[in-house]
Amino acid sequence: MGRINVNEIDDYQISNSGEFFQLKDDGDSKIVHILAETPDDIDAFVIHKVTIDGKQRNVCCLRKAGDPIDYCPLCAAGVKQDVRLFLQLYDTEDGKVKVWDRGKSIIKDVETFFRRNNPLYKAPAEIIRKGAKGDQKTSYTIYPVADKNYQEATKDILGYKVEVCAPDKAIILDKTYEELESYLKSGNFGAVSGSVQPTQPQVSRVATPQAPASQKQQFTRRTW
Ligand SMILES: [Zn+2]
Repeated sequence: MGRINVNEIDDYQISNSGEFFQLKDDGDSKIVHILAETPDDIDAFVIHKVTIDGKQRNVCCLRKAGDPIDYCPLCAAGVKQDVRLFLQLYDTEDGKVKVWDRGKSIIKDVETFFRRNNPLYKAPAEIIRKGAKGDQKTSYTIYPVADKNYQEATKDILGYKVEVCAPDKAIILDKTYEELESYLKSGNFGAVSGSVQPTQPQVSRVATPQAPASQKQQFTRRTW
C-alpha cells in the first residue's frame, strides 16, 4: 500500500494549495502523522459557507464569542455559522501535507489518540472510514498503527503546515467587513482583496491560542 518510512522522505513536495485529505469509501484507511503537538494545536475556526462563482467557499466569521451579531455582515444577514476543525495531516503514502475538514466531534478521537501518543505528531496514526460513499452517518476512527517498530517522526521530517486561513487562495478566506457586505449585495467580494493589506486577521478561534495566531501572511505555508 505504498507506506513509506518517514526516514526515507527527504525531498517530498509540499502542497501549496491546501490539498484536502479524503477517504472515499467504507473501510478505506490511510496512515498519517497529525501535525500538532497536542489537541489544542488543532486549528478551529468559526466559518460561514458562501457560494462564489458557483463554488462553495468558507469564509471566516468576523465575530468573537460575545460580539453583537452586527459585527459580522453574514451573521447579521442570517447566514449560518459553523465550527470546523482543520486537522493537518502528513500523508505517509505520498509525503504531502493535507487538510482534513471535520466537525467538532473529531477532537474526542484526537484526544484518545493523544493519551498514548504525546506529542501527537510523533507516532503514525491510522484513520479508518466507517460508512459508504454518501452515507450521512459516516464516522472515522483514529488508531495507533499495529506495527510498533515505526520510526518516530520529527517536525523537521514532517515539514510545514499549510496556512488554512488567508485573504486569498486558502481553505478559509479571511475577508474584511466591507468585502462580506459586498458579497451580500453582489455575490462577490468586490475589489480584489490582494490589494488590501491583511493587517489584523479577524479570526475567530475556538481553541485558545497561546501565541496569537500571528503573522497570517499571504503565503500558504507556516512553520510550527
Ligand atoms: Zn459571522
